[in-house]
Amino acid sequence: AKHGGRGCFRFFDAEIDHEVDDRPQLERELQSAIAGNELALAYQPIFDRDEKLLGFEALMRWTHPTLGPISPARFIPIAEESKLIVHMGEWALRKACRTAADWPLPLRIAVNLSPIQMLQKGLCSTVEAALNESGLPPEQLELEITEGVLLQDADAANSIIGQLRALGVRIVLDDFGTGYSSLSYLHRFQFQKLKIDRSFVQRLSDDRNAQAIVKAIISMSRDLGIAVTAEGVETAEQLQQLRLQGCDELQGYRLGRPLPHDETGAFVARYGTE
Ligand code: C2E
Ligand code: CA
Ligand code: CA
Ligand code: CA
Repeated sequence: AKHGGRGCFRFFDAEIDHEVDDRPQLERELQSAIAGNELALAYQPIFDRDEKLLGFEALMRWTHPTLGPISPARFIPIAEESKLIVHMGEWALRKACRTAADWPLPLRIAVNLSPIQMLQKGLCSTVEAALNESGLPPEQLELEITEGVLLQDADAANSIIGQLRALGVRIVLDDFGTGYSSLSYLHRFQFQKLKIDRSFVQRLSDDRNAQAIVKAIISMSRDLGIAVTAEGVETAEQLQQLRLQGCDELQGYRLGRPLPHDETGAFVARYGTE
């Protein structure tokens, strides 16, 4: 079992439930990672049902000078506990907006926001500054948030979501279905999109319950006027089922892995049709 450590805010993830004893070391080294150019963004393509390229999700990568690549599942929680995520997240947001503004087509860029960032004062001005300095039109920016922040402080989250929407950016509820009372969030908060968590998509081929849940999420979202993305699409069968059920957007290794920054321009030129 995991210890939250002095009641600290802490994420749990069943997939990575091994305690690491080098956390303090990693935290120290993460401090210098931004300045040392060790952080990068990878970009995973997102497609519509007809496999038209809609945009990308920006995913953070850390290549440690001696340890090599460290997975986000490992360093994001450390960054969150130490609040380094605020600085890292701002860096990612600005970098992602600049990258997207340079693509030869007006594609969307989705950026993950940590709950810590969501509740940080000045988030809206940070987002506004990232848009202004890059020249990226706000409707091309999507901010992905998880329900943890809604549980923590619903009123604060709701007001921030409203302010962000007023800037013209889209708010996406990430990892949908993994939390506690996700269904009730849909009408309480003004999301324009939700992402069905990979765990449901994975079970699509052999689990009737997962099929029913995905189907229900898609039809309910349609009634509410909320778009749906499926993440973690790995097989042709999953892809076919999601298409049949009318899922709006698709993302996963089957369609495209996260790409290094320098490869996105060529990818856009090759797959973008507009
Ligand atoms: P997420 O936001 O749910 O991102 C999707 C994760 O699923 C990414 O892992 C992506 O590489 C992976 N993925 C995409 N397609 C597939 C697939 O078909 N199969 C499988 N097995 N995996 C797939 P990644 O890049 O390791 O990121 C893990 C998590 O770390 C993210 O989950 C997100 O919660 C967090 N993260 C990553 N970048 C950032 C960031 O810039 N800011 C914040 N706050 N969190 C980030
Ligand atoms: Ca995400
Ligand atoms: Ca997700
Ligand atoms: Ca996830």
